[in-house]
Amino acid sequence: MIKIGILNLQGDVSEHQAMTEKAIRKMNLEAEVMKVKTALEVTECDGIIISGGESTVIGRLIEENGIDEIIKENKIPVLGTCAGMVLLGQETDYQQPLLGLIPMKVKRNGFGRQKVSFEAELELEMMDNPYPGVFIRAPYVSAVKNKANIMGQIHDKIIAVAYENHLATAFHPELTGDTRIHEYFIKEVLNCVE
Ligand code: GLN
Repeated sequence: MIKIGILNLQGDVSEHQAMTEKAIRKMNLEAEVMKVKTALEVTECDGIIISGGESTVIGRLIEENGIDEIIKENKIPVLGTCAGMVLLGQETDYQQPLLGLIPMKVKRNGFGRQKVSFEAELELEMMDNPYPGVFIRAPYVSAVKNKANIMGQIHDKIIAVAYENHLATAFHPELTGDTRIHEYFIKEVLNCVE
């Protein structure tokens, strides 16, 4: 039975937990979802979700708790949304600790002041039908390297990237009723444990 950990350091953690549980029910899976805070708890997980929030704060706590090392040593797949996308990047326009698991450059608050939050129907590579994107002070990806896969764009702005078993989204899939992003990630986790 797989275990998905929702990193519970800061941000909208409960929404991700509820959506992950909903996705698991839809997939008819036996899986456990738990909020995790410590390196030891993270060690027990097959996949980790990093929510939206303040990426500077979450990144600092990840580093202080040694969670970055555990994720890298155990090659744990990560779904990072919004602030989580920033943290998955290798580079951003601020000085802050990053996990750097996806070879991409992220621009924080990339949609500017006028568009602090908005919704958009998204065409994503892994889906046949549009996905309802909810953006809140969202970042975008300005460049990807190596074999990072661009999974979605709004005009010239990259808003979803997959690399190895990680997925980063600029939007908040936990704030919709649509479980497809969570289902996609759970499948990635299943591929890793098989
Ligand atoms: N702008 C925030 C950051 O870069 C992310 C906002 C969010 O997660 N909703 O940390």
